[in-house]
Amino acid sequence: MLTIFEKIIAGEIPANKIYEDEQTFAFLDGKPINPGHTLVISRKPYKDIYEIPQADFLAVMKTVHKLAPIIKQAVGADGINLGNNNGPAAGQEVPHYHVHIIPRFEGDGFSHWHGAEDYHEGEAGENIAKRVTENL
Ligand code: AMP
Repeated sequence: MLTIFEKIIAGEIPANKIYEDEQTFAFLDGKPINPGHTLVISRKPYKDIYEIPQADFLAVMKTVHKLAPIIKQAVGADGINLGNNNGPAAGQEVPHYHVHIIPRFEGDGFSHWHGAEDYHEGEAGENIAKRVTENL
């Protein structure tokens, strides 16, 4: 079964396409946080950061790098957030790899994460850094 984003690539579902190349495709998010909110997707339906091969990931990022300043200028934004949700716990709704380019405006009220607390007792940052670096 095709993902909803594969159907957009195939033209089966309408979307405001803004860019495509061999490995990537970009269109406006249908429920934008702000005007110009864009999704850059891999053409192939890799689900998430764990599945997408490095070459396809880099191709997506190359497109993000190309489009972000153009979108910023086109909508007169003050800033840009990039976002990529991986897994339902992280808020991923569509299981087809994509990066959000989100134009931001001074005082637009959109809030995102902030460091809430320090590490808890027994959960020192250095232990976590060690667990990560052991697996590199
Ligand atoms: P995520 O939560 O990171 O998986 O984001 C999925 C995004 O896809 C949401 O921001 C939706 O608004 C957007 N979306 C879902 N279906 C469509 C569609 N048919 N056209 C445009 N954007 C869509």
